Formats: sequence, C-alpha cells, structure tokens
Amino acid sequence: MIVEYALVRANGFCQLCDQPAPFNKKNGDPFLEVHHIKHLANEGSDTIDNVAALCPNCHRKIHILDRPIDIKNLSI
Ligand SMILES: [Zn+2]
Ligand SMILES: [Zn+2]
Repeated sequence: MIVEYALVRANGFCQLCDQPAPFNKKNGDPFLEVHHIKHLANEGSDTIDNVAALCPNCHRKIHILDRPIDIKNLSI
C-alpha cells in the first residue's frame, strides 16, 4: 500500500521538518500523517512519488499555506 510505504520510507521522521514524529501510536509506530503532494482531485496520482509522511504540524501548514517552496522541500 502506498500509505504504508510512505511511512516506512520516512522511518519515523517528518519529510518536511526532519523532526521525529511527535509521539508514538499505541502499537509503538511513530505517528505521521501521509500527505498527497498533488491532490488526487487535481490530477495527482496515488503513487509513491506523490506521497509524503508529515508530522501533524507540517501537514496542517502545508495545507493552510499551500506554498510551492514546501512542496519543493519535501525530500523524496
Ligand atoms: Zn514536520
Ligand atoms: Zn495532506
């Protein structure tokens, strides 16, 4: 699954701020959210190139500010 792959690839670190996940889930996995870089509705695709694992802060930020620089900084 794309989402799981993105989380494994991130290895517990936010791909935008490079900080570790703020907390772990009950099962011990780091909590990160998976963001679609190009919105699916906006001809984004459900592929590994189009997803990033983000901490909740960065995830909110990227949606609220919607800045191209943030998208560019998603180190994939
Ligand atoms: Zn972050
Ligand atoms: Zn998102």
